[in-house]
Amino acid sequence: MKIDVLIAGIGSAGFAAAYRLFALCPGVRAVLVDPNPGPGGTSVFGGVCCWEPGRSGYGVHFELARRLMDAGEGFVGKTTEFVSRDNRWAISSRCGDPYESTLRRFRVSPEDMRRFHFSPEGMSRTMGEMLGEAARGSECVPLFRSSLEAVTADGGRIVSVKIRTPDGVIDAEPGLVIDCIGGAAVAALAGETMAMGEEARGTYGEPSAPDTASLCMNGITQCFRITPCPAGEEPFRMPEEYADVDLGDWEEQMRRTDGPVACWNEDPRGGYIVNMLPTAPGGLLADTDFRDLERLCGARVYGWWRWLRDRCPSVRGYRIESLFPRLGLRENCRLVGQYVLREQDLLNGIPFCGADSVVAIADHPADIHGSGGRLTPTGVYGIPYPCLLPRHTDNLLVSGMSASFSHLAASSARLSRTMLELGEAAGVAAAVCVRQGILPGDVPVGLIRKEVRADEMLREILQNRPG
Ligand SMILES: Cc1cc2nc3c(=O)[nH]c(=O)nc-3n(C[C@H](O)[C@H](O)[C@H](O)COP(=O)(O)OP(=O)(O)OC[C@H]3O[C@@H](n4cnc5c(N)ncnc54)[C@H](O)[C@@H]3O)c2cc1C
Repeated sequence: MKIDVLIAGIGSAGFAAAYRLFALCPGVRAVLVDPNPGPGGTSVFGGVCCWEPGRSGYGVHFELARRLMDAGEGFVGKTTEFVSRDNRWAISSRCGDPYESTLRRFRVSPEDMRRFHFSPEGMSRTMGEMLGEAARGSECVPLFRSSLEAVTADGGRIVSVKIRTPDGVIDAEPGLVIDCIGGAAVAALAGETMAMGEEARGTYGEPSAPDTASLCMNGITQCFRITPCPAGEEPFRMPEEYADVDLGDWEEQMRRTDGPVACWNEDPRGGYIVNMLPTAPGGLLADTDFRDLERLCGARVYGWWRWLRDRCPSVRGYRIESLFPRLGLRENCRLVGQYVLREQDLLNGIPFCGADSVVAIADHPADIHGSGGRLTPTGVYGIPYPCLLPRHTDNLLVSGMSASFSHLAASSARLSRTMLELGEAAGVAAAVCVRQGILPGDVPVGLIRKEVRADEMLREILQNRPG
């Protein structure tokens, strides 16, 4: 199968890349591949279902939010209950504020922050509809329940990839690949240099980095849904599949430490979607069999819920309805690309961080779950295009959470809307490549910036910069 573009991983970044590519390049031949049954990735199948408050560009998130709100499957939420000694959770519930209120974070007090909640089913369906509309007039082959398995690279180019589908293996020869797999598997298979865990201070001179590198990573969370218990139903039951999982001293640890806290986000379909902060240390990803990790996290969710019911009687009216099908990984392998975004870029903010090549903006603090709630505030900062460019493979763009970030930068930039923005930048770059027959490294960054309206967003930030 000869195609113009392959997009691997159709989460937030992959969706936005595909949407922009189809919109700007009618007639393009593209394959989209993802193991999930539909688009959305971690936001949908990992049960995140929430866009944290924060600055973002003028991109596709507006259209997604509008459609979801119109369909009653998305709303603006605010914190109505904060974590305290007695409550081990914060609750975010619907309020009538406009969507724009979710775009404010920098120097906003927690009481005034707003987030955007959506139903995962609604988000996946809406992304699918938007892709279908944008791809009219193009040759789009969506391969869901499929996964990219192997890459053949030669002379600094990806020449073919192997995709396993439910109906067999397909060999594709893409002119260009956009790698939006959380973990950047394509880049890794193509032989690019990858990073995992936290860098030592000496690597990029980051002020908060430790003296030595380690595999310490952002925590892993198994998100789940809770709904009110139907009358007369026994609300707690440890499912059989987890009965033999050894939880070690996990429950004892909770008694000693008051346990992890959690965000309970109102679910547009009723009940809450619960995001524990976190369920397991991120470092386990490096040395634990993935199936064992899933079982450990599933068992911990139920163990935590049992403990919570004993400690906080007010939760007894709820039961765990279901766990989301994918573990929530906040961090994975990352590309070491042509530019590595680092803590100094976050701290210095715009206009210092190479404003001429900025294609996305963000202002979330660096947030390392599992480090006792360390939040390092940032200014409004930009992400430059070379963070998407690998060093050796010419026909590859890496977007999403595994683009070229240091561990500290990734712990801020990973938010879903930032991933949508970075996906858009990759999709625009790919469209320019197909139209002009050039490679990602030769795309004039001004063309991308024009499409993502980078100058307008920087001007707005500079005009409204507090103090
Ligand atoms: C528990 C948790 C809570 C979070 N809370 C928030 C929050 O409140 N607000 C917020 O804005 N952000 C939050 N985030 C961050 C945010 O959700 C993610 O960083 C973001 O969704 C990542 O988007 P992405 O497109 O980079 O990756 P993903 O959405 O993970 O997409 C990667 C895709 O690659 C696919 N893939 C994997 N292997 C292959 C393969 N071999 N071939 C093809 N495809 C493959 C996966 O199936 C997946 O769909 C949270 C993250 C987690 C884990």
